[in-house]
Amino acid sequence: MLEAQLDVHKALVEEASVRFKVAKDHLDQLQKAGDTVPQSALHQAQGQVVILQAQLRVKQAESRVAEVRLKHARQRMIQLGKADHGHDHDGWWCQEHGVPEHICSLCNDEVAAKLKKEGDWCRIHDRAKSQCFKCDPKLYEKFEAMYQAKYGKKPPRPPEEEFKK
Ligand SMILES: [Zn+2]
Ligand SMILES: [Zn+2]
Repeated sequence: MLEAQLDVHKALVEEASVRFKVAKDHLDQLQKAGDTVPQSALHQAQGQVVILQAQLRVKQAESRVAEVRLKHARQRMIQLGKADHGHDHDGWWCQEHGVPEHICSLCNDEVAAKLKKEGDWCRIHDRAKSQCFKCDPKLYEKFEAMYQAKYGKKPPRPPEEEFKK
């Protein structure tokens, strides 16, 4: 909605600047024509230019205010978005599986293929051996430490069934 308002302001600035330019060109022509132009016409043209210039400045100022408002509104939305996600941290952590998302062998097929090739695979639980908390719950500590190093606190623990055989 604010963006639509900004567009309106920009259109008004554009319109005012066109009108100002037309008046200015008209005045220039009168001035070039010199003595043949009556003084009254010249004064009238000058008056128009002054008025339209003032109008243009007002529209420009209004547009700038709208722009600043939009910027602030955007910042607020970004902050709200961050607050909304809470522990999510832009998806760095896979809460379901208790490892960073980019190395999660359950969520990321490429990672899974790579680890399988390297022989790091638990066939029973179909995930990386090094990430299989079902076989060894202690493995989780390493990933928990990675989260703690990044965020300065412990991550939300994955569901308990991830630790059960
Ligand atoms: Zn995952
Ligand atoms: Zn396993």
